[in-house]
Amino acid sequence: MIRESLPELSSQLLANPELVDTVAEKAARATTLLRNIARDYAPVVFANSLGAEDMVLTDLIWRQNINIGIFSLDTGRLPVETYQLIDEAEKHYGRRLEIYFPRHEAVEAYARAHGSHGFYDSVEARKACCHVRKVEPLQRALAGKGAWVTGLRAAQSATRDKLKVISQDAANNLVKASPLADWSEAEVWVYLRSNKVPYNRLHDRNYPSIGCAPCTRAIQPGEDVRAGRWWWETPETKECGLHLVDGRLQRIAKQGVET
Ligand code: SF4
Repeated sequence: MIRESLPELSSQLLANPELVDTVAEKAARATTLLRNIARDYAPVVFANSLGAEDMVLTDLIWRQNINIGIFSLDTGRLPVETYQLIDEAEKHYGRRLEIYFPRHEAVEAYARAHGSHGFYDSVEARKACCHVRKVEPLQRALAGKGAWVTGLRAAQSATRDKLKVISQDAANNLVKASPLADWSEAEVWVYLRSNKVPYNRLHDRNYPSIGCAPCTRAIQPGEDVRAGRWWWETPETKECGLHLVDGRLQRIAKQGVET
């Protein structure tokens, strides 16, 4: 998807009453969905990547006191602005994020095999790094849960075209919910601005999608919103394997995750 708006345009977007009403309706629907999932599939967790979409969900869950635990993965390679956001959000809501770290033995083994920047050398080496720093900690965070919530939107990349609000991992009896699947980027920013939600300051510097520091860069006008993530790879490889299918963490496009 080509980038449709920038955070700095959101003040103009707020002047559009139709858009503001649409966001309010979608936020109400997302809140209802989150409450129903928390009720029907407890224990439920929200995997908070700290991107713009995930700050919308953080605001909905914490301000509405919905019984969904929020955790984030600290890969050890995050930008300093992301740590600043964690601090700002915890103070803003008076809550503490649960943080999962990679296992140090696995990081040490990766560095011995590939070097500290081996992820630039091949897709396989990049995925191995993502497995150590993201996938394995995510598996630990999801163990024993009934459902998990993500901030994915269908419009974010070619690999997310078929994203549905609810998908089913039958093997693990684990439901995945993406309450913002049908939100546009403009709607996300209208929500953040109108509710004064903390967000990552890198978004103001043209980083629409933020991951680890060495694997994220700003994008140019007209570039796809995911162009700044793993920019040296082709679009088809640009998922980090964090979405469960049949009990295994797989990429969306090739595996047809959604039901
Ligand atoms: S995004 Fe980059 S640094 Fe982060 S886990 Fe994946 S390959 Fe490693």
